[in-house]
Amino acid sequence: DARVAKISSLVRTIPDFPEPGVQFRDITPLLADPDGFRETIDVLVGQLPGPIDVVVGIDSRGFLFGAPMALQMDVGFVPVRKPGKLPAPVFEEDYLLEYGSSSLNIHRDALRPGQRVLIVDDLLATGGTLGAAAKLVAREGAEIVHVETVIELAGLGGRKHLGECGVTSYSSIL
Ligand code: 5GP
Repeated sequence: DARVAKISSLVRTIPDFPEPGVQFRDITPLLADPDGFRETIDVLVGQLPGPIDVVVGIDSRGFLFGAPMALQMDVGFVPVRKPGKLPAPVFEEDYLLEYGSSSLNIHRDALRPGQRVLIVDDLLATGGTLGAAAKLVAREGAEIVHVETVIELAGLGGRKHLGECGVTSYSSIL
């Protein structure tokens, strides 16, 4: 697929960021290219398996892809945020990082039971982040229809972790 080749060419790998030994996938060249950015949103929307009611995007690079997808599909956008950012009452989920732990929040009134949700982030690595987001959506009583990222680091087993968190359907572009 020529679109996928173009999107791939606009993601660069930066060695030893944010620490020695890590190969960081940098999406900023993709965001800076209007055709590549547009095609990324088109592919992400086009490969959805079914209709959704709302997009949930993850702080902060998930916002960059999730918000334009929501506009294109004419559905609402809900942010999942790092602690201390959301002003109204929240649900909170802790998750493990490579070293240590973190947590994610969602407004308690952000979703309604039965709403069909798509969760979006830029990249799936171990699946800890998307797994925590999936648990937050489940606590709202909403239905996780699909999880999507631009990039999957397949060697890290993130898909398996998502399955353990109740996610049944996942896709990426790269
Ligand atoms: P996980 O929780 O799956 O291990 O890590 C995924 C999260 O870390 C995502 O929110 C993603 O933004 C961030 N992340 C980890 N590694 C990279 C990377 O190489 N490039 C980018 N763009 N994000 C990364």
